[in-house]
Amino acid sequence: MGEKHLVSEQFLDALEFRGLSRRDFLKFCGATSALLGLSELYTPQVASAIEKASKRPPVVWLNFASDSGCTESLIKATYPNAADLVLDILSIDYNETIMAAAGKQAEEVLAKSLKDGRYILIIEGGVPTKKGHGMIAGKEMIDILKDFSGPAAAIIAVGSCATFGGVPSANPNPSQIVGVSEALKKTGVNKAVINLDLCPVNVEYLVGVVVNYLLLGSLPELDSFGRPKMFYGRIIHDNCERRAHFDAGRFVEQFGSKEETMGYCLYKMGCKGPMTSSECPKVRYNDKINWCIGAGAPCIGCAEQGWPDKFARFYERLPGVKIPGFGGIETTADKIGAVAAAATAAGIAIHAVASASSGRTKDKEKEEGK
Ligand code: SF4
Ligand code: SF4
Repeated sequence: MGEKHLVSEQFLDALEFRGLSRRDFLKFCGATSALLGLSELYTPQVASAIEKASKRPPVVWLNFASDSGCTESLIKATYPNAADLVLDILSIDYNETIMAAAGKQAEEVLAKSLKDGRYILIIEGGVPTKKGHGMIAGKEMIDILKDFSGPAAAIIAVGSCATFGGVPSANPNPSQIVGVSEALKKTGVNKAVINLDLCPVNVEYLVGVVVNYLLLGSLPELDSFGRPKMFYGRIIHDNCERRAHFDAGRFVEQFGSKEETMGYCLYKMGCKGPMTSSECPKVRYNDKINWCIGAGAPCIGCAEQGWPDKFARFYERLPGVKIPGFGGIETTADKIGAVAAAATAAGIAIHAVASASSGRTKDKEKEEGK
């Protein structure tokens, strides 16, 4: 491999000193290339971008209305120890949950970052827009957001609270909490926000965006919800390991049943995978060990705008999804708009026909020994 031509020995030695072997570092770079949709030939460039990151681009991480679950997700990351490798190498000048400084000292750090500007601004949590409902040190959160957005080189909203309001904005939402983009509109600041939806954020998505920024010096291509297309370009249902069961009409009807132990499709248990776009089946959580559906829980759609209200009740099946093999249309729930439901039903039916005609289902079943 040619990585050594692009990464200095000194940098590799420094990583080794921190307990990260060269092999693991290059493995991480290869995985990040794949995450960014690049061929493994780009591994040396990714490695080089990370070395350049050791020059510590500054990061200001602000917490608004949330339970700090995304910070938790960041510090618990083990693959590939993202916190050490990229985010600790970046200069996280301010994150009030994990920084050592407190009080006046912390406020001074924050004021300096604001003065210097050109930082990556990461926001965790929704933004209360009702006066007096979200204050830090006597200042409204929305005003803090406005002040820090202007000088930022890039703004990343992490987790569903920061992207579209998430759990804190659920009905009846007395604090009128909204996501970062919506809040910025109210303040008159016109800046792009990268929305990394999910509850909590998947740290690998955050690493992917940061490396993409370092590698190309630009922000990734975004969809109409401000989410990077590379992570939110496909619906979970199209990529799900239980898809062959869906296509064959094999469903879990009850938790604790034999069908559940057989790993059948969770659609009838309320799975929102057919209406949720994210690479969860591929990227997974916790050192890639598992993800929601892999662990036996239906997807509750936390990557989508309007969550959680849009998909409550979580265990109620989606309406209007045509089930191949049964030929019927479920019309029990009416929580989701008829147009969207019909579009989903059509999309799934078309996909199922294409899968069946290409022999995908049969092949998959053969693989599984069914
Ligand atoms: S309905 Fe859910 S469990 Fe079933 S195949 Fe689709 S995403 Fe997977
Ligand atoms: S599988 Fe569904 S519920 Fe689980 S993290 Fe992904 S989008 Fe959220």
